Amino acid sequence: MKRGAFGRLLGYMRESLPAYIIALLSVSVLTAGMQVYGAHFTRMMLDAAIAGDTALLSSGLQRLTLVLLGVVILMPHANHVFLASCAKATGNLRRDVFAGVLGLPFMHFEREHGGGLLSSLTNDIHEAEQAYMNTVSGAASLGITGLASAAYLALLEWRLAAFALAVGGCTLMVKSLQARRLRVMGREVQDARADLTSRLVDILTGTRVIRAFNAQSLLLSDYERRSVHVYRASMKRVRWNALFAGSDALLKTGGLVGILLLGVWMAMQGIITIGAAVASLQLLWGVSALSASLGGVIAGVQSSMAAADRLFELLDADKESVGEGNDRLPLKQGEPAIEFRHVSFQYEPGIPVLHDISLHVEPGQLVAIVGPSGGGKSTVLKLLLGFYRPTQGQILIGGQDSSDCPAGRIRSAMAYMPQDDYLFAGTVAENIALGCPGASPTAIAEAARKAGVDDFIAAMEMGYNTPVGEGGGQVSGGQRERIALARAILKDAPILLLDEPTAALDEQSQLLVQQAIESLAAERTVLVVAHRLSTIENADRIVVIADGRIVETGKHSQLIKLPDGAYQQMYRHRRTAGVQPVSH
Ligand code: ADP
Repeated sequence: MKRGAFGRLLGYMRESLPAYIIALLSVSVLTAGMQVYGAHFTRMMLDAAIAGDTALLSSGLQRLTLVLLGVVILMPHANHVFLASCAKATGNLRRDVFAGVLGLPFMHFEREHGGGLLSSLTNDIHEAEQAYMNTVSGAASLGITGLASAAYLALLEWRLAAFALAVGGCTLMVKSLQARRLRVMGREVQDARADLTSRLVDILTGTRVIRAFNAQSLLLSDYERRSVHVYRASMKRVRWNALFAGSDALLKTGGLVGILLLGVWMAMQGIITIGAAVASLQLLWGVSALSASLGGVIAGVQSSMAAADRLFELLDADKESVGEGNDRLPLKQGEPAIEFRHVSFQYEPGIPVLHDISLHVEPGQLVAIVGPSGGGKSTVLKLLLGFYRPTQGQILIGGQDSSDCPAGRIRSAMAYMPQDDYLFAGTVAENIALGCPGASPTAIAEAARKAGVDDFIAAMEMGYNTPVGEGGGQVSGGQRERIALARAILKDAPILLLDEPTAALDEQSQLLVQQAIESLAAERTVLVVAHRLSTIENADRIVVIADGRIVETGKHSQLIKLPDGAYQQMYRHRRTAGVQPVSH
């Protein structure tokens, strides 16, 4: 399974894979070559110095210059190709994960905390990238250096090589014991960090509420508590690392002293030269570094693969079928624009939210859905938009069963204005043209005019090129709603779905939005979750939904007369609560 994840990661190299492998091997061979040639050079120099052989000294220097020149020329090239293929692979992976997040069904975003996905898009990608950037290159470089050092040592004197391998074996054993513990602690640190990221997302997205409720100190102490958790987990790892440093130093020094003593003894016996004894010290490093780092490499691979597994889970998760292209779903003539046939729905098994809803909306009608909070009004819109599919029954759009259609096609027939519409970081024009990329400036301006927001945009210094902040923080609620309406108008879909904001907008905004909706309703079908009395009174039909059922349906004039009717009570209550109809 781990190999599968690694193979998939390498797959992101695509056409750069051969270049990556060649560059990886080149960097590793050059590094190993430098190490072994360094030891060889030391040996040659010392032996030449002891023998007073100046010719050997100068030829050694000449060869070293050539080797260094080769390394200086080749290394940057190999490194560049290596890092470029890694960057390309990470870019490919990031793009796929981003597309994967966009393709997740709506349900995922309603259920999971955004912090988890953010962590995948940042931490997990970074962690997985380490697999081919550092871990594999480290393993290849250490492996080749270790083997080349051991081979050269064996050429010098087999007993030295055997000693170095024994030291290497001990280091490897100790390191693999340490790696297991460090991996567990690494996981604790990662989990604590993910927890902290989720809190950070809350702080950034809920900033308005936090300030309004003066909850900064509460959030700060909560953040501190979690960051103390990260600190404690990190410190635990630091303490263990410090503890391990003692055994590492013992092994390292013991190995060096051992090989030095062995080399010196052999030199005294005339088995090897002094130069070879000193060179063996240098070579020991190559062998023991291999085994010392192997544990780290294994831990690194484990941690990268854990992150890769999380990413692949996300990539392999069921995706929403949006269909290809942007072809608009044609509505059949003579059929209702929207039809619910005995639709029932539940978010969670066993907890029904909508029961047997049947509803016809004829083309060109303005239908208002009203009812108590939690009754299921927004759920009706979510089903229409294909965010969820009915548990029972059918939804037909323009006479076509929506269960046969990819969600993207269903949505092509609708423009939607949610309760709290979102403005993306970008210009006003880009925000209006969200559903119609490539719309002309004239079309954008026309949509803004119809939404009653053109004067406001024209008054801004940069007009349609004015940047609006992430979440639309730089415009008022009323202006944001009108920009969102312009976005819906520009899409020019035959069906308009509106979830009216419950928050009272200023009179001017209400009036403008009301007028815009009325003129839109003249030429298309509008289904609105209504909170304003003016929208309700002007509707062709009112559907009252309570406890997931349609309890009343009819015109305002009819429903208001029903004695003890749900609509009548609600209407009276709204009037006495001071929610006044806007004038028109
Ligand atoms: P309304 O728009 O009338 O206020 P909703 O359609 O938002 O009502 O909600 C209807 C019911 O469904 C409520 O009981 C609500 O708690 C529940 N509900 C809404 N969204 C979800 C969800 N994503 N998961 C589970 N239950 C939900």
